[in-house]
Amino acid sequence: MKIYRADWLVTQDDSRAVLEDAALAIEGGLVSDVGPAADVLARHPGAEVDDLGASAILPGLIDAHTHVPMSALRGAADDKALFAWLGEDIFPREARWEPALLRVSSLLSFAEMIRTGTTAFWDMYMLQENVFAAADEAGVRGVIGENVVRFFPQLGGATREALFDRIRANAEAWRGHPRLRGAVAPHAVYTTDPDTLLACRALADEVGWRFGMHMSETRKETADCLAERGARPIPYCDSLGILRADTALFHCVDVDDADLAILRERGCAAVHNPASNMKLASGAAPVPRILAAGVPLAIGTDGPASNNAQNMLRETWLAALLGKLASGDPTAVSARTALDMATRGGAAAIGDPLAGRLAPGSRADFFALDLCTPGLQPVNDVVSNVVYAATGLENRLTVVDGRELYRDGRYLSLDWGALLAEAENLRRWAGQR
Ligand SMILES: [Zn+2]
Repeated sequence: MKIYRADWLVTQDDSRAVLEDAALAIEGGLVSDVGPAADVLARHPGAEVDDLGASAILPGLIDAHTHVPMSALRGAADDKALFAWLGEDIFPREARWEPALLRVSSLLSFAEMIRTGTTAFWDMYMLQENVFAAADEAGVRGVIGENVVRFFPQLGGATREALFDRIRANAEAWRGHPRLRGAVAPHAVYTTDPDTLLACRALADEVGWRFGMHMSETRKETADCLAERGARPIPYCDSLGILRADTALFHCVDVDDADLAILRERGCAAVHNPASNMKLASGAAPVPRILAAGVPLAIGTDGPASNNAQNMLRETWLAALLGKLASGDPTAVSARTALDMATRGGAAAIGDPLAGRLAPGSRADFFALDLCTPGLQPVNDVVSNVVYAATGLENRLTVVDGRELYRDGRYLSLDWGALLAEAENLRRWAGQR
């Protein structure tokens, strides 16, 4: 058992308790005790105590939608509309991926996440075995989706059967991993057809993996789907029977009340991506309406090519501000609501009810912000400081599954110097057209 003490502990438990002078006991990758420091220390005499002093411990943030290998494309193409950006800049580069670089770019993303307090993620990309290997090495928790589109050959396989056989092999290879699960992730309604979507759902069920896709990201996507499939994206997918309680839907910008009723009925989670939606001018997801509809709502950065950061504190701040601006209501998305989305909402999206909170029995996944920084003083309201003032760089400790991955400037699971040297290869790759 190990006990961490800090001046503040934001539990995100069912009562959203925020404790001053508090402690957290962990054992075997789980939280075993939480409470006022004096009580926790008295209950566990002899336990190792790590006093973090003037810090705030929070449950690890969950980046519920990203494409981690795309850190290689950070800054390679900006300031364009979604469909032009994908067609002219992203897809041509992705067609010539070198698998070894997928490991490097994934590790670079995990390094950014670990540095800024993110402990878990939902990833969607190709050649997922590389992301699995990098996530295993980095020590993070996550759902790793293999992207599927209707066009073949694609990067993951010459034919659909070849791709699906690779997914089956990955499912076998990573079955039972303590922190990582797979998912089948059809890209979007506009890059698939009914046959592809049904085959993806059947494969997810066959291998016992989760399911997720980009959904209702733009008005154009809705208009095209209405023209081509005769229904809006969510009713169209629901008519195929592919939306279930294991499903995460990324973006959900252009959703109406009937769409949200379907998501609630099926138990799907929605994932809000404020920076990506603002940068691509896709629109603003109706956060208050999604929450009022009873749909679990998480926050994701989207990929580092369309954000361009994977810093969930930045994203949580934007989710609060964009929610207010888009609704014209400064009370629409509070700091607490945004933090709920980044923690407990994320846990719903990755399908891990033990994540996103610090309570007895929950995951020992957490981070600790150093409050002795000018931007985080005074501590009138620690949640306000975390959501509205913190940048992520105040983080001094990241723990996943009870294991320290970052501490006071040092990575403990990654060789940052070696990774930095390899990042130069990403720049060379991204520069080729
Ligand atoms: Zn995305």
